[in-house]
Amino acid sequence: MPSLRIVLLALALASTAPAAAQGVGEGFDVLAYDLDLRPDLETGAVSARQAITFEATGESVDRLVFSPNALTISEARLGDQPVRVLATDTGIVFLLPQALPPGESARLEFTLAGMPARGVTLLPTGLSTGYFACDWMVCLQDAPGDKADLALNLYLPAGADSLGVGQLREVAPVAGGMAVHRWHSDAPTSPYLIAFAAGHFPAIRASTPYGELRFVDGTGNQADLANLFAQTEDMVAFFSDRAGLPLPPSGYAQLLVPGDEAQEAASFSLIGLDHLEAEADNPASAWVIAHELAHQWWGNAVTTQTWADFWLNEGITTFMVAAWREQAFGVQAYRDEVARLEARRARLEETGWDMPLAWPGRYPSLGVRRAVQYSKGALFMVRLRELVGEEAFWRGLRAYTQAHAGGTVTSRDFQAAIEAASGRDLSAMFDEWVYPSGRQALPPIPGSAGN
Ligand SMILES: [Zn+2]
Repeated sequence: MPSLRIVLLALALASTAPAAAQGVGEGFDVLAYDLDLRPDLETGAVSARQAITFEATGESVDRLVFSPNALTISEARLGDQPVRVLATDTGIVFLLPQALPPGESARLEFTLAGMPARGVTLLPTGLSTGYFACDWMVCLQDAPGDKADLALNLYLPAGADSLGVGQLREVAPVAGGMAVHRWHSDAPTSPYLIAFAAGHFPAIRASTPYGELRFVDGTGNQADLANLFAQTEDMVAFFSDRAGLPLPPSGYAQLLVPGDEAQEAASFSLIGLDHLEAEADNPASAWVIAHELAHQWWGNAVTTQTWADFWLNEGITTFMVAAWREQAFGVQAYRDEVARLEARRARLEETGWDMPLAWPGRYPSLGVRRAVQYSKGALFMVRLRELVGEEAFWRGLRAYTQAHAGGTVTSRDFQAAIEAASGRDLSAMFDEWVYPSGRQALPPIPGSAGN
């Protein structure tokens, strides 16, 4: 038993200690990110003046913690009051001058500079970014549910081209032979989808009844854009019809880049030339253009609330690629893809990691996580389609997409939409495939007894 003196000392320390430390993203909701960003197109280094408008949601919020990155953050202020910044391995901590009550909003401003550790790729004629936005700006990398408005002003050499988020509202000359490209989001966006590209990129446009398309060449090698992206318009028509929604008002761009890149962002995707060359002799094998395009609806417009339900982004998208192949190349193309999904499921079962789709734990590898969230997720969609029938399945998917566009979702939202469309209780099937039961036994870790 501790002595009275130690107990009193502990009580004294507890009463003077700061409020319990908040984790990354806890206690506040981001409303808007505003950046004046100067990327160095030669090196990939960045400097910026950034503002974050937020609303306190927790009790007595005295700090904001954002995802860690390798940048130097300085000159932080809240209004006219200075803000202390602590950069740690687990987060960037802004210590507010006073605690804010729930519901109060405020604007944090600071500067940043440095070489991002991830997320910036140098191209032959510029650079691109994708997925790791919070490495080149300050944001919440793992909070897909905290969508926010974005104003991104890119300061670039005069004559450069750019891709950003939403609409390019203005390109205006500024001092020093530069121009500012003012991009503004169409709708609140999840941080992992914030991206830009800048450099010299030849481009062509195509108008469709479902929105404007741009095919953009980042290879520096005069790619045959019209030919490489020839299937895109048919895909847009198919996905728009199945979603019951057109593309966003600002349209959609595809940036062709060297290598095997395949990454969606809010208003454009990075498409690796290697994939398109591999698919050239067999159009029915095409997946990368369709997959990243399908994310415009499933992933970007309708976004998983947390990573635990990431299968809603990736499983539905993987399934939609199979559905597009069926539409374009016939039912055998769909059956071939279903057979590949089943083979992947069989290999997954052998690993012992055949987890429910919404299992929130840590997978042993990216490959195993993808086998669950992408392949098993798509196979679940196949089985659901078989169970409820063609008409109810597509009507349910459309209702789900329309109801949640611009928002965030959980597996329960998807279940509710398919149940409403089919008039069936699907809880047994969702319990079998989707929801963790709390009984999932992890495979033994080699070298340990396990339990
Ligand atoms: Zn994907």
